[in-house]
Amino acid sequence: MTMVDEVLFRESPSPLAIRDDEGRLVDANAAYISFVGAYSIDELKASLPGIVAPAHQGKERDDSFRDGRPLAGAMAFRRLDGCFAWGRVTPIRMPGRHGDPVWCEHIDDVTELRHERVARERRMLHDELTGLASRRPFMEELAASTEAGESCAVLLVDLDRFRVHNDSHGHAVGNEMIRVVADRLQRILRPEDLLARFGGDEYAILIPGPDQESEALSTANRVIAAVDEEICVGDTRIFVTASVGIAFSEPGAGAEDVVRHAEAALYRAKGLGRNRHCVFTGIDRSQVTSRSRLEADLRRAIDASQLAVHYQPEVDLVDGSILGVEALVRWQHPERGVVPANEFIELAEETGQIHPIGEHVLLEATRQIADWNDDAALPDLIARVNISARELERPLIVERISGALRESGLAADRLCLEVTETAIMVDVEESMARLERITDLGVSVAIDDFGTGFSSLAYLRRFPVDVLKIDRTFVNGLTSGDRVIVQAVLDLADAMSLEVVAEGVETEAQREVLMEMGCRRAQGWLFSKALPAGELTELLRKRRLIGG
Ligand code: C2E
Ligand code: MG
Ligand code: MG
Repeated sequence: MTMVDEVLFRESPSPLAIRDDEGRLVDANAAYISFVGAYSIDELKASLPGIVAPAHQGKERDDSFRDGRPLAGAMAFRRLDGCFAWGRVTPIRMPGRHGDPVWCEHIDDVTELRHERVARERRMLHDELTGLASRRPFMEELAASTEAGESCAVLLVDLDRFRVHNDSHGHAVGNEMIRVVADRLQRILRPEDLLARFGGDEYAILIPGPDQESEALSTANRVIAAVDEEICVGDTRIFVTASVGIAFSEPGAGAEDVVRHAEAALYRAKGLGRNRHCVFTGIDRSQVTSRSRLEADLRRAIDASQLAVHYQPEVDLVDGSILGVEALVRWQHPERGVVPANEFIELAEETGQIHPIGEHVLLEATRQIADWNDDAALPDLIARVNISARELERPLIVERISGALRESGLAADRLCLEVTETAIMVDVEESMARLERITDLGVSVAIDDFGTGFSSLAYLRRFPVDVLKIDRTFVNGLTSGDRVIVQAVLDLADAMSLEVVAEGVETEAQREVLMEMGCRRAQGWLFSKALPAGELTELLRKRRLIGG
């Protein structure tokens, strides 16, 4: 070794050791000494042989030296403190201090990496919050049982309106709820049942055994009763209920199938008003298959140009002039005909297809409405475009909107985005920040279906909102009891200087009541349904749509 070699050896941050041809340790640098948990080279030498005992491929060996050379590759070193350190060893043949050849063991310390990997694997197997099994081991257990042809039942448990609790009380309380419910579920189960957390507020229970039919039903009842008890977190008292979907193993159905069936039953339990259980039946089966077919079809819809944008005019109730249009997406399905937005927007949100769909609608609508606005013979329109909760979650949406404005040439103050209350309430602070960036572009924001969600009035004041759209159900009930609600929304909007648009006006009577109450803007079938651009152009030429 030259002087330079010597300095490199001492100072190298990589553990390095020198051994003679018998494998005896001649020297080690500071990094090596600390790698094996010794205090000094003397302590290291004194504790040899046998102290530094690398384990190779899982099997512990007593030495790292075999057949006249150090072993190469990844191995575990038993440190002097008894723990393991992990290193990747590369032996290098080189001249020693006296010119005779020695082995230099170069070690790449991978202890941290290995600990991280183990922790990651453990996290995957176990849910950290509750200590329950996570999805993977649950699915493995279920698969083992279905593959062996054993009968079993799967219960999917989902807390009702968990998001609302989570948003109003905060994540810490939400987490505590999840933990408390996990505890309660664990307590009502038999030792042979397996409880797992699938993520969020969803739990899964595997009930093995041939008797599972009655066992599953009684378990579902116990689950519902166990959840339906006050949860106290600090000073907060929370009442929450659960819905349960039940499915049984069946010949030819794999683990994924059984879980999908339980999911379909859970959907139905939710749809029937929550706080109940449903067993997977033929009704759900047809929905599962038509749903997955629809999902596959939707994936092709954009490329196959099956998605069209229709436009519904918004009118001035007093003189019938057209003030704007709402872009509403339509799916021209090759076999089913026109599929209404309600039937596929939710699916698109769940599968993530909403992003390309939303972008398509935004580009198409801004281009079309910019064209109309460029035509001096047509009224100047405000363009209303729906943005879903999932789209609002992505920071990219801001760039998308400014891109659409740039490409279409539509004036920013002519674009208004409609978001629902629930979309905003998913994550209030995030939504607020995002909406502010959107309104910074000069675009306005409307709250769609106002009155059907959970938005708090305190938030409404803080949000950069310009328009409230009164949900159709209230307009529908105008001539009965809902008049007070509509009046309250109008008063609120007035006090906060917001515009109001009434949705779903279908009759002359509704129009008159709305006018009496001071509502100026509305849309609905009384004036026009949503129409393809070509047909709407005809209407726009008339400029006025007096209903009746
Ligand atoms: P929305 O934004 O509240 O749209 C109003 C819905 O009411 C439309 O249904 C419209 O056709 C319907 N409607 C309008 N006037 C009347 C009426 O007088 N009577 C009745 N009964 N209904 C009327 P549509 O087009 O099926 O859309 C349903 C929902 O789907 C929309 O509710 C909106 O939330 C969503 N949606 C539609 N297009 C898009 C889109 O491009 N992107 C996103 N994210 N969501 C969309
Ligand atoms: Mg809308
Ligand atoms: Mg609406």
